[in-house]
Amino acid sequence: MEPIYILGAGPAGLAAAYTLSKQGQSVVVVERDSQVGGLAKSIEYQGFILDYGPHRFYTKIAPVLQLWDEVLGDEQVTVNRLTRIYYGGKYFSYPLKAKQVLSALGLIESLRIVLSYLAVRLFPKPEANNFAEWVENKFGKRLSEIFFEGYTEKLWGIPCTEISPDWAAQRIKGLSLSKAIKNAILGNDGKVKNLIDQFQFPRLGSGQLYEKIADYLQQHQQPILLNTEVIQVHHHNSQVTHITLKNRITKAENTVACGGVISSIPLTHLVQQLQSSPPETVIEAAKSLKFRNTILVYLIVEGGNLFPDNWLYINDPRVEVGRVTNFANWSPEMLANTEQTPLCCEYWCNFGDDLWQCPEDELRILAEKDLRQIGLLKNQAVSDGFIVRLPRTYPIYAGNYQAALSEIQGYLQTFQNLQLVGRYGAFKYNNQDHSLLMGIFAAENVLTPGKHDLWNVNSDSEYVEEASAEAATTAATNTRLSRRRQTLKTLRQFGGYLFTGGAATIVDVLIFSILIQSGLWYVFALGISYFIGLSTNFWLSRRFVFGIYWKNWFVQYGVFATVALNSLLANLGLLQLLINELGWHPTISRLASAACVATISFTGHKLYSFSSQNQSNNQVSELQS
Ligand SMILES: Cc1cc2nc3c(=O)[nH]c(=O)nc-3n(C[C@H](O)[C@H](O)[C@H](O)COP(=O)(O)OP(=O)(O)OC[C@H]3O[C@@H](n4cnc5c(N)ncnc54)[C@H](O)[C@@H]3O)c2cc1C
Repeated sequence: MEPIYILGAGPAGLAAAYTLSKQGQSVVVVERDSQVGGLAKSIEYQGFILDYGPHRFYTKIAPVLQLWDEVLGDEQVTVNRLTRIYYGGKYFSYPLKAKQVLSALGLIESLRIVLSYLAVRLFPKPEANNFAEWVENKFGKRLSEIFFEGYTEKLWGIPCTEISPDWAAQRIKGLSLSKAIKNAILGNDGKVKNLIDQFQFPRLGSGQLYEKIADYLQQHQQPILLNTEVIQVHHHNSQVTHITLKNRITKAENTVACGGVISSIPLTHLVQQLQSSPPETVIEAAKSLKFRNTILVYLIVEGGNLFPDNWLYINDPRVEVGRVTNFANWSPEMLANTEQTPLCCEYWCNFGDDLWQCPEDELRILAEKDLRQIGLLKNQAVSDGFIVRLPRTYPIYAGNYQAALSEIQGYLQTFQNLQLVGRYGAFKYNNQDHSLLMGIFAAENVLTPGKHDLWNVNSDSEYVEEASAEAATTAATNTRLSRRRQTLKTLRQFGGYLFTGGAATIVDVLIFSILIQSGLWYVFALGISYFIGLSTNFWLSRRFVFGIYWKNWFVQYGVFATVALNSLLANLGLLQLLINELGWHPTISRLASAACVATISFTGHKLYSFSSQNQSNNQVSELQS
């Protein structure tokens, strides 16, 4: 049987090759670069080992962790994590710490943040249509303006209102201001997942993982063709049959037969390399997908201990730099000496921008100027530096990208032995772990066809899988924790229920007693006050109890009112009993009946609806990587 060809030797391609090779399947890896690792490779410069910006490795995915440990073994070091955002001349911890944010920004700004946060908790937008709305819904308008909008627009080069909310949903889902405020007041007991302050890292830079996979493949006689570019992919009867390769040094071309293809090369390129060509609509869809480029400016600074962060997000309109990595604070073995500090400054741009064309020496001057302007460099000299231009580093989730992607997916899914993986390859804003997972899944699909749907990796369904993988490895701890969590959850739910029911009852009883005072018969008074109380309850419950917004609120209201009708009848029955039979005061009777009905209906809700809610919203967040 012909080997499986794996296009691209980045994390996704190498994970696929490694998994297949372990199962005895023969593979050939094709890589256009002279080195493996893709965007996660490490490079050497004057004895320093440098990554492409920060490459922190973090995952909750069991098979990825297993691969990581299996390949790296004891070649790992523990790195202390410190990441901050530079804003308004000050440094803020990232993830944000409420106490620090509020004290650093002053009373007025803090008040604006808290008020806009409260406003959004009370009146959230039912559906976020873009990134700006998504972060506003999550953090309130003011905090979003300060910490997310400027930075995000610098990264993507388009207004936040044009960026799809999908990006935020993937990357900053786990952050919560209320959690941050709770931590600030109560302290972090170590269980809040997004405040992880250490991580495991390969001793010799992020690329070491991939170099070690390459060693494994070579030991098992699985070829890796470096400096070799895929230029054509031939197919027949929905099967990829051959691929044409070009050696970038000798320029020699040859066409080889293949048993199947796992591709991590840019999706946009692959579509154009298919022979025969796909339909015009697919080609146009591929052309419409956009990526953002990165320029990395590396500076060698004379002196040590410049600043304590692994990396810093720079949110300051006065400078163009977006993120700065300090390699002195990663693995000590990446350093040639401790008298010099290698830094990496990231700039983002499009192909047509002046910055992309900017000569190397000008970029170095720009980076040095930016760092001095924000105080990261003081009187230290910059003795050396170099530039790396990375085209297509960030798939842009904007415009009609989803429709374009569906068009391409629809066509490529008809191929029986072609799978797309990776950040480039599947147009997914992957970190290493999701690319590794896609590679592992693609390999498993070769061995057991149809086992995984690769397009679903990095979507919500996969987090369920993560959660269960995690559960399998830490079952005992989780059982204990989950009992506590369950109790806390019930208390929280009951609190929400009491709050909404309580507020509605106050409105209800207030109106009821006014109507009674004005001489209305208590049955009519009950009907009117109940209707207003019910509406209040509906409005608050959507936000604080259900968290579910139907597009048609009127229908949702109708269903809510119908369900609540039994409460009205129960209230009426109890009122009759308390007022007529026991002779209680109408207002007291109304309060007592409301309390009884609230408790009974909470128990009903608890049994039938809350139990089905799945809240596996516990991702760790990174602004961008
Ligand atoms: C600045 C920066 C910082 C990042 N920080 C982090 C981080 O902190 N943590 C994290 O987990 N992830 C981080 N990432 C993301 C991480 O690098 C990627 O998720 C990962 O490298 C994607 O792997 P991949 O295999 O999908 O794609 P890639 O790494 O892009 O690999 C694709 C490979 O295909 C090759 N190729 C392309 N075209 C062809 C062709 N025609 N023929 C043959 N080969 C071809 C490329 O040369 C490349 O080697 C960062 C990325 C960047 C750019």
